[in-house]
Amino acid sequence: MCGICACTGNLNAVKLVTEGLKILEYRGYDSAGVAYIENENLKVEKAVGEICNLEKKVENLVSFTAIGHTRWATHGGVTENNAHPHFSFSKNIAMVHNGIVENYKELKEKLEIDTWRSQTDTEVFVNLVEKENGTLLEKIISASRKVIGSFAVAILDEKGNLVLGKRESPLYVAKIKNGIMAVSDTYVLSGLTENFYTLGDNEFAEIKNDEIYFYDKNGKKIIKNSEKMQKFDKKSTIFEKTHMKSEILETKNILKTTYKNYQDGNLFSQIIFPNRPKEINLIACGTAYHSALQGAEYFKKIGIPSHAYIASEFRYGNEILNKNALYIFVSQSGETADTIACAKMLKEKKMCCLALTNTPNSYLNQICGNVLPTFAGKEIAVASTKAYSCQVFVLYLFSLYISGKFQEKEKEIENFLVKFPLVDIDKNVVDKISKFEKIFFIGRRQDYITALESSLKLKEITYINSFAIASGELKHGTLALIDEKSIVIAICTEEKTKEKLFSNLEEVKARNGSVLLVTNFETNFDNLKIPTFPPSLMPLVSIIPMQFLALHICEKLGYNPDKPKNLAKSVTVE
Ligand code: GLU
Repeated sequence: MCGICACTGNLNAVKLVTEGLKILEYRGYDSAGVAYIENENLKVEKAVGEICNLEKKVENLVSFTAIGHTRWATHGGVTENNAHPHFSFSKNIAMVHNGIVENYKELKEKLEIDTWRSQTDTEVFVNLVEKENGTLLEKIISASRKVIGSFAVAILDEKGNLVLGKRESPLYVAKIKNGIMAVSDTYVLSGLTENFYTLGDNEFAEIKNDEIYFYDKNGKKIIKNSEKMQKFDKKSTIFEKTHMKSEILETKNILKTTYKNYQDGNLFSQIIFPNRPKEINLIACGTAYHSALQGAEYFKKIGIPSHAYIASEFRYGNEILNKNALYIFVSQSGETADTIACAKMLKEKKMCCLALTNTPNSYLNQICGNVLPTFAGKEIAVASTKAYSCQVFVLYLFSLYISGKFQEKEKEIENFLVKFPLVDIDKNVVDKISKFEKIFFIGRRQDYITALESSLKLKEITYINSFAIASGELKHGTLALIDEKSIVIAICTEEKTKEKLFSNLEEVKARNGSVLLVTNFETNFDNLKIPTFPPSLMPLVSIIPMQFLALHICEKLGYNPDKPKNLAKSVTVE
């Protein structure tokens, strides 16, 4: 979480940094700030809330060097004092930080500073830097040895020295016209440069005389190769009022693009995995975990034992690893800290690891070195929509590839993509549903997974307390919650589970609960009809109206769907 942007050169750094922060705002939007040099003095401006609040404060500032931050709080509430950049005690050094200093309490005690200006771990870090000896670069390198945890930092001192450091959280740096820029996401650099450098773990950089010098954790200079910028169309997702809406609407096209990219089999043939893997296990968090669950269903259908794990659980579990298994790590951003931690752990144990991400060059891709890309394009809205659909689709295509059935299904998939329906949900239905106090989602098998994802979408952006349950489980406890204040939204796309699910809905009605059935089958229940396609493809169809449902309720309640409270797009902390 958090976005970092730093800039120096013969340019208006404050302006460029603020513009960069606006692009990074999806990473955190509690508060923001910049540090800059004015008349040889190091200064800081901060504001709580969206970047536009900061923008108003800094619009007339001009400085050739600046560092900026958009925050997603981990330590200390959302206040101006806790916003970054943080000054060291003497105010000679300012730091922006993405990550967590896990041992900040111990370090804080040792620092023996009486007055602290914030409650953050970052303020401890910047004071640790100040206490070290040597140049600013030497200080950050030695301070980082004492830090347990993750960081991407940009540090500026009163003399205008600018240094960077990274462990686990992402950081990129590039030469742009008339200067140098460091950012948390290369998306900011799009249109500003052709090439960029990725900082590796425990690597540092010093920006001096229009050059970038890289160092390892021992302060030894390293030579780095630049990487080619991926071209992003920054406007592609803003033709609608909200990113979330335009991203849902993009689903049809991105599924087509994804299919085109995988159709000739080349991408699959580049993947290293055990021939006829004995098991395929998927590890992910949040929405990506739901794609992983759908993926596991696909692999089981082709006869391969498969299981989806929540990354934060897997990491501390006692799972039995299998050398002949394939481990797929699913993450939209490729930055998800819990997933990355599992990938690192399994890579060390020499397991076959594969990253399924939407972000080329992401850290997760680098760790796995074996990548199954999605082609969803940049996803800005915090609630993942098109990226989810794309992950599920890629996992489906991969299962066909492994089973040797890709060609056999070609016609079926092409027909599906031509007719792919973006089923929206009627306003009257939205009005009706939003009146209920309790909203449950149910389904069986693949529809249960869609129910999980639908409920997560609703919670994320409407703050309505909702949960999903396998429909057969209702009667084992949850039915006690059903009354006239409840609505149960059921997803039903599989013939084999249809009748049983219908019985579960009767049980709900008998307890005065309301029902909405999302289905391609004929039914007398209140329903939202979706078209019929082969069962394996139905999860891609049924999730769309559920994404729209969350979006419309969110808009009706007057919230911003792109920036739900308490959340951020990339979860780079564990
Ligand atoms: N730990 C820092 C803070 O709370 C940075 C948080 C982050 O990277 O999300 O301010």
